[in-house]
Amino acid sequence: MSTTLTPKAPETTLPQTPADAEGVRLYGMYIDGEFTATDGRDMIDTVDPVSGEVWARITRGTAEDVDRAANAAHRAFTEGEWPKLNPSQRGALLRRIGDLVSENADWLAYIEQRDNGKLIAELSMQMRYMANYYYYYGGLADKIEGSVIPTDKPGVLNYTKYEPLGVVACITPWNSPLPLASMKIAPALAAGNTVVLKPSEFTSASLVELMKIMERAGVPKGVVNVITGLGAEVGDALVSHRHVERIAFTGGPIAGQMINEKAAKHMKRVTLELGGKSPNIIFEDADMDNALKGAIAGIFAASGQTCVAGSRLLVQESIHDAFVERLLEMVKQAKFGHPADPDSQIAPISTRPQFEKVKSYVEVALAGGAKLALGGKPANVEGCPNGLFFEPTVFVDVDNSMRIAQEEVFGPILSIIRFKDEDDAVRIANDIEFGLAAGIWTQSIGRAINMSNRVRAGTIWINNYRSTSVTSPFGGFKMSGIGRECGIAGMKEYMEVKSVWISTETNIPNPFVRR
Ligand code: NAD
Repeated sequence: MSTTLTPKAPETTLPQTPADAEGVRLYGMYIDGEFTATDGRDMIDTVDPVSGEVWARITRGTAEDVDRAANAAHRAFTEGEWPKLNPSQRGALLRRIGDLVSENADWLAYIEQRDNGKLIAELSMQMRYMANYYYYYGGLADKIEGSVIPTDKPGVLNYTKYEPLGVVACITPWNSPLPLASMKIAPALAAGNTVVLKPSEFTSASLVELMKIMERAGVPKGVVNVITGLGAEVGDALVSHRHVERIAFTGGPIAGQMINEKAAKHMKRVTLELGGKSPNIIFEDADMDNALKGAIAGIFAASGQTCVAGSRLLVQESIHDAFVERLLEMVKQAKFGHPADPDSQIAPISTRPQFEKVKSYVEVALAGGAKLALGGKPANVEGCPNGLFFEPTVFVDVDNSMRIAQEEVFGPILSIIRFKDEDDAVRIANDIEFGLAAGIWTQSIGRAINMSNRVRAGTIWINNYRSTSVTSPFGGFKMSGIGRECGIAGMKEYMEVKSVWISTETNIPNPFVRR
């Protein structure tokens, strides 16, 4: 019987996390500038999806912990060092965080991989790129300018300014824990807010590790806090906390809807980055080699566990059979292996419940009448006997009305749908409750522009798929969410506009008449 490979931990100068006698790391939370003790606390197992072993335990936080963290964040927002920093000083602090993220990128990639099993080839790049969130928003911190308004009222000077909101709750999923948290932390801090983070209960270790960087960078206590535990317990308590002014949430539509309802009751601001069922549309005039790569990157990168997964592949009738044949050939060549091996191409499913969900959707597709063309079952991978690997799975003869075409799986399952022409492609692409992203493959500039105008999604990729940048706004139409992350728009989500009126007259005119 083969034994599981265990990736070697890279060197780090960050303080070590305590471990139990078996070497399982024990993660506390980070509240008001202190790592909380784990003795006597309820703990939740964190399972390595490659080995099936418990490699860490995280603290199961409570509503009292949330209260302490939110109060600490509120104190840090209203008194002490943080509100005295000017935007340029906040920017400098963010750039220090960016430097430390860069220096510790290999360590963070290692922890993130133990947590969610992503390919090291992707994680190494992602963790290095993550420093850019702190550099970009560090640079932007002192560049958000208000305006002097040329008002139509006499005797006044009117100007606007952008102000922070206060305490921001950031709630994140398990598929890209650190980048999705950094996408929130960096603009929230640049704007002058304080934050309480709640990572997924499946992948919390990496965010607690990031707090060591926050501490080393000199972030004042209480400005950034991490609460770990279950969504229904600490997540819910955080959303309801009276000091929380904004909720920045990335996750599934069900939790997103619940959060939105709660937030509405207290007029809390929300950014919701939810799921998708994105169309990746291949026209007959596309560059076929690139379109094939784009189709594969769209759904099988990260084993389909990305919100932007191009899980509905729309292929024009005239090229359908030839395209599908080549796609299946290419997918069959994909290399399974331990995600720590830089040559591996297929990573495991990150959590046991998600693995079961992916399996169940094969049944859903078959029951709905889709035809299985490839995969459809768990995969045995040498060196990883307990790994949660699943074969890249392709269904053909899918109709857009089937459940497999309408519901987000968040796994390596591709549904291929035929279309006749542009109108038909638009109809199918938009006949869905989601609107996160779309890919369009064509060599006609006119068709590319027309299609990008007609497909209802927050991000449109023409002749590429999955490109994102901290500099460009990202978010969903329809059920895929509310608000935008990244870019200048992403920072303004963490600010309120204030309008200030100054009288330039020496005498206030008749007080009974509005001017
Ligand atoms: P999830 O909704 O189950 O959980 C996300 C987070 O919400 C977790 O931290 C969880 O503990 C917390 N949570 C759950 N219930 C809660 C509640 N009632 N109150 C407060 N917090 C609660 O999602 P997941 O399974 O971790 O992640 C997968 C989902 O995330 C997919 O739907 C995917 O599309 C989505 N996602 C979206 C984006 C995006 O940018 N649009 C990016 C990545 C993932």
